[in-house]
Amino acid sequence: MDALFTTSEMTRSIRCAKVAVLAPMETPLDYLVPDDLAVSVGDHVWVPLGYAKIRGLVTEISDTIETEFKLKPIAAKIDDEPVPAASLRFWLWAAGWTLTAPGTFLKGCLQALKTPKAQIKHGFVRTGAEPVKLTSKQMRVLEVAVLPMSAAELAQAAGVTVGVVQTLEKKGYLERVEFTTQGFDAPDPDFMTPTLNDDQAAADRLLEMEWDRQVFSPVLLDGVTGSGKTEVYLETVARALRDDPTAQVMILLPEIALTTAVMGRLKRRFGVDPVQWHSAISPSQRRRIWEGIARGEARLIVGARSALFLPYANLKLIVIDEEHDGSFKQEEGVRYQARDLAVMRAHQEGFMVVMASATPSLETLTNAQKGRYSWVRLEQRHGTAQLPDIDLVDMKAHAPEAGPTGDKWWLSNPLVKEIEATLARREQVLLFLNRRGYAPLVLCRACGERMTSPKTDSWLVEHRATGRLVCHLTGFSMKKPDRCPHCGALDSLTSIGPGVERILEEVRERFPAARAEIFSSDTTPDADSSAALIKRVEDHETDILIATQAAAKGHNFLNLTLVGIVDADLGLKGGDLRAAERTFQLLAQATGRAGRAEKAGKAVLQTYSPEHPVMQALKAQDREAFYAYEQMSREIAQFPPFGRLAAVILSAKDNALLNRFGRELSLAIPNTEGIDVYGPADAPLSLVRGMWRKRFLVRADRNRDLQGFMTAWLKSVKTPNAIRLVTDIEPYSFL
Ligand code: ADP
Repeated sequence: MDALFTTSEMTRSIRCAKVAVLAPMETPLDYLVPDDLAVSVGDHVWVPLGYAKIRGLVTEISDTIETEFKLKPIAAKIDDEPVPAASLRFWLWAAGWTLTAPGTFLKGCLQALKTPKAQIKHGFVRTGAEPVKLTSKQMRVLEVAVLPMSAAELAQAAGVTVGVVQTLEKKGYLERVEFTTQGFDAPDPDFMTPTLNDDQAAADRLLEMEWDRQVFSPVLLDGVTGSGKTEVYLETVARALRDDPTAQVMILLPEIALTTAVMGRLKRRFGVDPVQWHSAISPSQRRRIWEGIARGEARLIVGARSALFLPYANLKLIVIDEEHDGSFKQEEGVRYQARDLAVMRAHQEGFMVVMASATPSLETLTNAQKGRYSWVRLEQRHGTAQLPDIDLVDMKAHAPEAGPTGDKWWLSNPLVKEIEATLARREQVLLFLNRRGYAPLVLCRACGERMTSPKTDSWLVEHRATGRLVCHLTGFSMKKPDRCPHCGALDSLTSIGPGVERILEEVRERFPAARAEIFSSDTTPDADSSAALIKRVEDHETDILIATQAAAKGHNFLNLTLVGIVDADLGLKGGDLRAAERTFQLLAQATGRAGRAEKAGKAVLQTYSPEHPVMQALKAQDREAFYAYEQMSREIAQFPPFGRLAAVILSAKDNALLNRFGRELSLAIPNTEGIDVYGPADAPLSLVRGMWRKRFLVRADRNRDLQGFMTAWLKSVKTPNAIRLVTDIEPYSFL
């Protein structure tokens, strides 16, 4: 029945549905529910829109029609797992919070369903047969075939042809499994219960009291690295799983921390592999996991920030480990801060959210200090492990000498002496420099030209291992030219400043007997290569590890007793709101790598500003002093957490148009008490891939309706099609 109804024509009972169509519409649209169609909130449907049929989600059903317009009926129901009500409610709220059209937001949440069901009837998984005389390609396939994947996916993940997969199946190393029948093993909360030490047991009792209240309860679990925060929060996870046989638990981790080591630990504790959700999960697995979570079958989910938007049927606990970590902020597409939204999710449903960190974000710490969050502390490292001694080396007084070829060196004598002593004791060294590649800048000695990315205002980084110049912003790369592209001078391009590759070069020259290697996303592009590297360090096949932030957290290297921070000032130069905080957190994490077992550790920080509060607080291991200093400066400016921020980023190919529109938008700023708007200003990255960029920064008092203000302001001016306008609530990047 395709007829159109109006309110007046209807005498018998009718049902009307609001449908959020997966298109950038401001609000859900109204449709009639045909008599013979059983639909409920959360169902997926096809609806007519203009001349097209479009996918949507039913967000409301009512028996009154609110509109005068003729309503069209829903065309059909789609046989996909319905979205549980609480998840749908959260998604719609999050769309509003991030100023995103609901349909656009939901489209992101439903991406896993883009993989058609039919394609994923079966996959391959390893049988566990003892490998005999297998080729390295075949071994690679077995290494990745932990979870079922289609032959094509498996071949791609292992970098082999499908033929290799087929051979392995014939030989009995892989078996074919039906995805549909492959369920999710239930975690056993009592599989292996740990013996907590006194401190940990006390923390656990506090968490238990919070848990027993069964209400919204945000908790900061605050303790130095190695104090056993994970050990403690896993007990709360166990409690949640035990109390309700259908309860689901989500553990959010920074992507970089989602390692085999962490998964192994969860498996040992709960007896099953947790369900993982991160960028490396294959499309067919995504659909299977998405459905399993919507049906409530998958109960223990460990994931990166986007796991927050899975369709949980009965979520009862969220844990956010390393809650201060910047990677919880999504910076592309819809911009959101997963930690903040997770707290909101817990608030909506009235459950507990545990935020664990050794160096909490200023936001979370302030909330704990003001009593808005409970604050559970673990003061001691587990066992005999001690915090390292920390030395500051003033680089003004200890400038590194030049190398034999006249090349600049980067390691000062005090640090070199410590390295020598550590190596002599047969212990290991971590040199930390958060800079990939060989040199962050390449310039021409003849004409002074700086090598930048095409049509982009960002320097090219030299990667000597590959002989290329790489833009870390856009991904552009080129072979390092022999001649300056500007003036044509031959061999005039020089590398300025150090990256990890350059430090490796220096280490090889100065400690020729030591085995040294780099730990960065370039040397460990995937889970396998980083697991292999971690094993080499654990087995002491490496003496000196030169690492970017890839190594700053998460690993326990028992024989690693010296951490050298090559450029402790690096993060302070960014000049954005959280520069000092991030530096403090990163350095505290990095120095925390030293002395994780019985052996005492030491950290040496090279800095040109030893008097800076960040350096002084690190040296004194006085976290509270640093936070107090940082809180004071934020409070004076009424910046987060004392006020709220939002950014508007405009970009366009046509700079004149961008300037005009920037002025227009600035004239339309509503005059609102307690809200200030700064800008438009050229963005620090004022040109990216040929697009010019400008920014506004909005600062609001905590009690203001920031989103309401933004919506009213941005709606009052029509954005030309040639301009891209992006909003960012609580920005972390100011570039
Ligand atoms: P954090 O999360 O605070 O960094 P972890 O929970 O990872 O600390 O603990 C650090 C190390 O100490 C881990 O290897 C962990 O297995 C071990 N550990 C902590 N508490 C205990 C305990 N009660 N019993 C045995 N091992 C423990």
